Amino acid sequence: MKIHEFQAKEILTRYGIRVPLGRVVSSPKEALLAADQIGADNGRLVVKAQIHAGGRGKGGGVKVVEGSVAARAAAEKMLGSALVTHQTGPGGQTVRRVLVEQGLDIERELYAGMVLDRESAQVTMILSAEGGVEIEEVASSQPEKILREPISPLTGLMPNQVRKLAFELGLNKTQVAQAVTILMGMYRVFVELDASLIEINPLVVTGDGDLVALDAKMNFDDNALFRHPEIVELRDLDEEEPAEVEASKHGLSYIRLNGNIGCMVNGAGLAMATMDIIKLFGEEPANFLDVGGGTDAKRVKAAFTILLSDKNVKVVLVNIFGGIVRCDVIAEGMVAAIQEQGIEVPLVVRLQGTKVERGREILNESGLNIVTIDSMAAAAEAAVKAARSAS
Ligand code: GDP
Ligand code: MG
Repeated sequence: MKIHEFQAKEILTRYGIRVPLGRVVSSPKEALLAADQIGADNGRLVVKAQIHAGGRGKGGGVKVVEGSVAARAAAEKMLGSALVTHQTGPGGQTVRRVLVEQGLDIERELYAGMVLDRESAQVTMILSAEGGVEIEEVASSQPEKILREPISPLTGLMPNQVRKLAFELGLNKTQVAQAVTILMGMYRVFVELDASLIEINPLVVTGDGDLVALDAKMNFDDNALFRHPEIVELRDLDEEEPAEVEASKHGLSYIRLNGNIGCMVNGAGLAMATMDIIKLFGEEPANFLDVGGGTDAKRVKAAFTILLSDKNVKVVLVNIFGGIVRCDVIAEGMVAAIQEQGIEVPLVVRLQGTKVERGREILNESGLNIVTIDSMAAAAEAAVKAARSAS
């Protein structure tokens, strides 16, 4: 689960990490008020769009302004607009809130991150002297500038591990001590709140020589959310694909993609294989959808509703293996769902497993626009053909 920058900064503050003074607002008027409260001595302010996607700086979602009237104007321009960044997709993401912050004098922009490294099965601390909006470019063209340090789960992060890397970044003694506080705090957030990623980019050295977290990103492990109700409360459904939210209510794993062949599959492995085989035949899947191993007619119905809410879907490929669940139950569920919802797109169905003969009979006798095919390759090929003739 993702949260917004302003929420991540509230958490960082609770763990003793310094962030710029700021307030989140949802109207230009509030932005003016917030700016007046913040910008008393130094007229420089920053207005930052709060969307879950990164790359806001390059996309025009971070504006450095002088004075509260300019902050209000910047907020007015951002609020309600769709911000496009390299992480949002071409349609962009609607800006509903902006963070108004004191503008800092920036001497250097560093990068600090923590992420679970699956290969070493350890949380890894990542630091770089080359932080800021070009970090991805640095990572690919100058990987030696990205410093990594695995953290043993037995000892946790040790101050000397931070000191070692912090000196390599060229920080002075006071700054190294601040870096220790920041990184130790980040590690505590990571472990105590079951994060899967924490990034402070940039972690800046201010004109006064202090380290401040200028930006913050946090992702949390969905499987651990049950023990963090206070984190669940930070969820912003406006930032999530509505169909994905709906799917999760029915226990379905659904990810929307850009192709035109809707996939309804049980089991994540079979779902991946189904997507692969569609690509092999030259088309693109419209989604990943795992209805689960022990699915029933009700879930099949919900799955169809969600699949067909995507107008790009020109054909649905159903690939279900009846292991725990019986094929005849699935077939009945499908027929009921189609009759109820009046599905117009063609269906290619491949069923295998328990009671498969009866399942096919039910589909073939339904009088609906359904083609049943035994082999996975032939089914994928037929779906590709149907999608092409439909578009
Ligand atoms: P992101 O692009 O979504 O990661 O947004 P960031 O919060 O990282 O901001 C992008 C860039 O805006 C930073 O790397 C800074 O260069 C600049 N920026 C953000 N806040 C300030 C500020 O207070 N003062 C100045 N001068 N620049 C800022
Ligand atoms: Mg950033």
